[in-house]
Amino acid sequence: MSRQTIQIDDTLYEYILGVSLREPEVLAELRAETAKHPYAQMQIAPEQGQFMGLLVRLMGATRCLEVGVFTGYSSISVALALPPEGRLYALDEDLETAAIAQRYWKRAHVDDRIELRLGDGTRSLDALLAEGGEGTFDFAFVDADKEGYSAYYERSLRLLRPGGLVAFDNVLRAGRVVDKGATDAGTEAIRAFNRALHADDRVDISMVPIADGLTLARKRP
Ligand code: SAH
Ligand code: CA
Repeated sequence: MSRQTIQIDDTLYEYILGVSLREPEVLAELRAETAKHPYAQMQIAPEQGQFMGLLVRLMGATRCLEVGVFTGYSSISVALALPPEGRLYALDEDLETAAIAQRYWKRAHVDDRIELRLGDGTRSLDALLAEGGEGTFDFAFVDADKEGYSAYYERSLRLLRPGGLVAFDNVLRAGRVVDKGATDAGTEAIRAFNRALHADDRVDISMVPIADGLTLARKRP
């Protein structure tokens, strides 16, 4: 029996991509353009985008939300997996990067499925709740500021239908979660968040060691 997830070195990672990644051309171009951005490393990994698209398809999701859009890679990965009548609410506070995302939504022909909500993530989620969104969402992706995760979680959980799924990015923080010397606010916040979710019986969970760690939490009926 294998006791642990195998180490993924560069060669093995290239192999994984080589035999499994089916990245649409528009997403490859977005990756190339984002690579020039000083915060390019914030973008999700391509195999992670494909994995999230698979989850969305498996669930037959039609109503999705995302907190943390950046230049749009994850939003397009999710939106491409939606049926034409599907909807993704994309929440971010950065006008400049959201403009890049909007440009690529058009190129990917998913702009009609995505609604951008500019502003603070918590406020935008509260607005969705105030608009009657409670219990109406199938899937949520949380990838904004790490200190905000528990606030995003509580609101997303209310917005999800029973059986709906919320995914949290960067739950391993490049391994810093186990580095005692790493005391930055983001890492401390993720450690506390991971602990709290482990003990939270409102959800079924799995911490998936893909990319920088992706925790899936399904709202129990
Ligand atoms: N999912 C994206 C990466 C997100 S990076 C991708 O696939 O490329 C994190 C994003 O969270 C940034 O765009 C940042 O502007 C946004 N963000 C940070 N704090 C926020 C807040 N309080 N409210 C809304 N968005 C926030
Ligand atoms: Ca991320």
